[in-house]
This record gives sequence, structure tokens and C-alpha cells, in this order.
Amino acid sequence: MSIARLFDEKKVVFSFEVFPPKRDGSIDTIWKTLEELRSLRPDFISVTYSAGGSGSDHAATLQIAGAIRSRYGILPLAHLTCVNSTREEVLPFLAQLRREGVEDILALRGDRVPGVPPKTDFPHASDLVAFLREQGGFSISGACYPEGHTEAPDLVQDVLNLRKKVDAGAEHLISQLFFDNSVFYSFVERARIAGINVPIEAGIMPVVNAKQIQRMVSLCGASLPHKFTRMISRYEDNPEALRDAGIAYAVDQIVDLIAQGVQGIHLYTMNNPLVARRISEAVASLRDA
Ligand code: FAD
Repeated sequence: MSIARLFDEKKVVFSFEVFPPKRDGSIDTIWKTLEELRSLRPDFISVTYSAGGSGSDHAATLQIAGAIRSRYGILPLAHLTCVNSTREEVLPFLAQLRREGVEDILALRGDRVPGVPPKTDFPHASDLVAFLREQGGFSISGACYPEGHTEAPDLVQDVLNLRKKVDAGAEHLISQLFFDNSVFYSFVERARIAGINVPIEAGIMPVVNAKQIQRMVSLCGASLPHKFTRMISRYEDNPEALRDAGIAYAVDQIVDLIAQGVQGIHLYTMNNPLVARRISEAVASLRDA
């Protein structure tokens, strides 16, 4: 079954994101993480793809996505970026995904790498979506930005661009992280008005250490509500308290999202099964209620 079809069957789809271990780490560390994540019954697990990465980074994405299916019996979603690829360079990755039995792809443009001129075959993710459609055999997901993508001139243009991605064939969207649910609700409303009718999953990032916050905000520009910054400033010098508060904040966001009828929750696990467990267990009974 494709990921998009899960939304016909589930009240709330609940999924995780993992990333391949960093270059200096062994790939073996991910197997233990996946073993633990499996017991939390995710509906699917996505694996990131490094936009500026080498062949070995991409091989790790493939290997992990394949194992999620064959070894752990969970639907995998392989991320794929196109900013640094030509059509010919994408094809071998697709052939390997087919061999691994991976049928779902999160089609992304990726961030431009400073000093590396982007290739021109795929100016936008929508071009990759259209190309994947032509190739056939894959179900395609895309990314969306509740606060607007950082390069978009305004929220309206961003959602019109998102519509192009859906018109090109994206059947499901996963949102960038956000800390203010009202931002997500407004975005979903804009998307529906723009005629985007595919399922939209809310991306939730539990913030469990102070370093992570600075990095995240500089990367994606998520706005930080007062309630959130008060929490951080109160606990930033106490790692255990900050972790507990970050978990509680994510749980609070998820409870509200589910109560408001969100179609799916995508948890950015940061490969941290302990945090994923505490959040998953806190909301377990809400998934089917
Ligand atoms: P696009 O959809 O192409 O959007 C980029 C910009 O172009 C936006 O401003 C948009 O408004 C505009 N635009 C889009 N389509 C058009 C069009 N047809 N015409 C004109 N303008 C257009 N990065 C990685 O490197 N690896 C990952 O694994 C990864 N996973 C991610 C997962 C999720 C859920 C999210 C939300 C992001 C992820 N990213 C990842 C980051 C992502 O690659 C960056 O945010 C990147 O800058 C944009 O990618 P995109 O696919 O959203 O691009």
C-alpha cells in the first residue's frame, strides 16, 4: 500500500523521520534505533537524503529505506533531492529503490550548497515530481511550509507554488516543523482554498537541547511563540528539565492537532528513540480514538 492510501484507512497517520548516521558514525547505529522505533508502531518511516552529499550518503539512504521495509516490516519513504542532480543521475537511484522494493519517494528540491552551482534539470521540486510521474511505479510525497518557504516572496505565492507540486503528482505533503499550531491551521486553510486536497501531515520536532534550537531556527526560520521561548530560557541550563519540557511541548502540540482533526503527525525523531517513545506513548490512545 502507498503512503497516500494510508490516509483513507487511518484516523491519524503517525510517522517518523530518521537520518543516516553522520559520515564519521557507523551505519550500524541506525539498526538499534529502528528496532526501538518499530515497537512504537509507526505507519511509515522516512529517511533523509543529503542534498550536497556523496554517493556513499545516498547509498545509506537506500540501504536504510530498504531495511525499513524488508527487515522491520514498515513502509519506507525515501527522501530524494534534485538540486544537484541531472535526470541521468537520478535514474540509478530510482532503479535501486525499485530493487529494494521502496515505492514511496519524498521529492525535494533540496537546499543549494554554497559555492556549488545548482544543476538545471530540476529547478523546483515540482519538476522532480513530474519526472518521477513519467518514470512510473512510485507514489510521491512533497514538502510544505506552514510559515512559507524562506525563499518565497509571500505566503500566497508559496501556496500557489505548492499547488504546482500537487498538480505535478504529489499525493501527500509533510510540513516543515513549527511551534505554533495556529500557523499550521492557517496554512491548511490557505492550501485548501488554493485547491490542494491531498493529505497534509504536521511535522513535529521535539526540542530537547539548546544547541538544536539555534541550529533549527537559523535553518528553517520557524517562529518561536512566547510560551516556547519562556520554556527554553527557564530550562536551558538544565538538560534533563529541558528535555522533559521539550517532550511535553511536543505532546501538547500533538494533542491539540489531533483534537482539531489533523490527518497525520510526522515526528522528526532526530534518531532519538527515547524521545520518540515518550511522545508516542503519551499519545498512543489518541491515534485510533
Ligand atoms: P520547492 O518545492 O522547489 O520550493 C522551493 C522554493 O521554490 C519555494 O520558495 C517555493 O515557493 C518555490 N517554488 C516551488 N515550486 C515552484 C515552481 N514550480 N515555480 C516557481 N517557484 C516554485 N533537505 C535535504 O537536503 N534532504 C532531506 O532529506 C530533506 N527532507 C525534508 C523533509 C521535509 C518534510 C521538509 C519540509 C524539508 C526537507 N528538506 C530536506 C529541506 C528542503 O530540501 C529545503 O527546504 C529546500 O530549500 C526546499 O525544498 P522543496 O522540495 O520544498 O522545494
